[in-house]
Amino acid sequence: MAEGRWLEIADGVLVRRYTELDLSVGLVLADHGCLVIDTRGDAAQGAELAAAVREVTSLPWTVAITHAHFDHSFGTAALLPCEVWAHERCRAALEAEGAAQRERWAQHYRTEGEPGVAAAIAATDIVLPDRLVTTTAELDLGGRRVLLTHPGPGHTGHDLLVHIPDAAVVFAGDLVEHAPGGSFTAESFGPDTDLGHWPAALDRILQLRPRVVVPGHGEPVELAFVVAARDDLADLAALRAAVRAGELTTARALTRSPFPADVTTAALG
Ligand SMILES: [Zn+2]
Repeated sequence: MAEGRWLEIADGVLVRRYTELDLSVGLVLADHGCLVIDTRGDAAQGAELAAAVREVTSLPWTVAITHAHFDHSFGTAALLPCEVWAHERCRAALEAEGAAQRERWAQHYRTEGEPGVAAAIAATDIVLPDRLVTTTAELDLGGRRVLLTHPGPGHTGHDLLVHIPDAAVVFAGDLVEHAPGGSFTAESFGPDTDLGHWPAALDRILQLRPRVVVPGHGEPVELAFVVAARDDLADLAALRAAVRAGELTTARALTRSPFPADVTTAALG
């Protein structure tokens, strides 16, 4: 099976890229430990990631989860025992909705004719993060600071940024996505998305002045990409507000949107 490939985007900061869902996960190396950012979508995928990290380093790891969606958080069990950091509402979301999410996605892959993936998701033990962030937390992995920051609601109500100041890198989870030839997809907008506040969350990333931003899906990007994504989301939020106020028809919003029709339709809800 085709698995991932590592990219080193800064000294001791790696991204592992997967064909499956175009996913990007992270690895930050320091003197006394390493940080794994997101754990893939099921126990088997998490085990692959754990083995891949062990090919890079023998340092003990800590895990940070950017948000509760299955493709970022369901692989955690394979990395235990370790500290698992996330926003406090990420834990609450996994606790309240993890089992339903597991059932929904297992069913999705069964329907898609991928029974192996479906079975792996169905067999996943959902791990609840045990180190919780409300606004910000600082990890000291030895010789390197890593900051975990909740930038306000956006893709979900509990997104977490992972900022490595000395490398000028931010792992953004799905607050930033880089689909081939574009940015967001229809799947970027779910029931837990807060479109109105999403642009402000991207402003928080811009304020950190990173050299590289790692999306939850797609290749790493530079700051200009995040600026454009912020502006496009702000335009989309304004269109949605106008539709809801009865000032604009959905059809007109679709023609004015910076995004393709399927993405705009998903975002308009
Ligand atoms: Zn997501």
